[in-house]
Amino acid sequence: MTRSPVVLITGSSRGIGAATALYFAKQGYSVCINYKTDESSARLVAEKIRMFGVKTEIFKADVSYEPDVLALFLFIDEIFGRLDVLVNNAGILKGQMTLLEMDAERINYILSTNITSAFLCSREALKRMENGGSIVNVSSAAAKTGSPNEYIDYAASKGAMDTFTIGLAKEVASTGIRVNSVRPGLIYTDMHSDGGEKDRVDRLKSKLPLGRGGTPEEVAAAIYFLASEHASFTTGSFVDVAGGL
Ligand code: NAP
Repeated sequence: MTRSPVVLITGSSRGIGAATALYFAKQGYSVCINYKTDESSARLVAEKIRMFGVKTEIFKADVSYEPDVLALFLFIDEIFGRLDVLVNNAGILKGQMTLLEMDAERINYILSTNITSAFLCSREALKRMENGGSIVNVSSAAAKTGSPNEYIDYAASKGAMDTFTIGLAKEVASTGIRVNSVRPGLIYTDMHSDGGEKDRVDRLKSKLPLGRGGTPEEVAAAIYFLASEHASFTTGSFVDVAGGL
């Protein structure tokens, strides 16, 4: 069994997940990196993490697909032998459009990737957190704005994530497991290209009270805080990392 605490970060080959993986590694955590398609980026994150002298491995799994989730957690059992922190970070959006243009295939793809995944991974994590642990869900400021004319399906998936955080936090509080969430907004990552607007953060940043976009590292710091003992009396809570939005 790995002696150092172990964190699983879903979708940690790129963006906020990759920054979070590095952040935990710097604090001495062993890190299980998960990706869906981009193996070379996942390998690059692992190479950087090994420079901190901690254990890390990559595992390909679509976390919205139950058999992949089961395989991912069996891999953690075999390779790390424990799990202390789960970060439900994997999330996607699709091209900007109104509801009138959306079909069921798209809506279900967004919901299963962004919220079914968190249910499945949290269920498997809880089974392994017999001595307590911490789950941090990556939601979005979109849960509050609703993202009209861009992607209300994505925003609704994050609203569901917020309700999931509140419910699960209360459900497992007596077992010593804390469940919290960060709500980022306008962070410089590849995700905005998936929505068809690579420079979206720069277009909108002046509307934020802080007047700039955020970095993945700023989100990682908030995730780490919530997972750590610094937040030992905090559960069912939200930290907005969205420049004042
Ligand atoms: P990103 O740069 O596009 O990275 C997405 C990550 O998720 C990648 O590692 C990707 O893996 C992985 N992924 C996607 N679908 C997956 C699946 N089914 N199973 C496993 N992994 C999967 O996105 P990001 O901006 O860092 O977003 C991370 C989280 O922050 C998301 O939940 C997002 O909703 C949230 N967020 C982001 C912003 C923002 O402004 N960027 C704002 C609010 C909230 P591959 O590399 O293999 O594709």
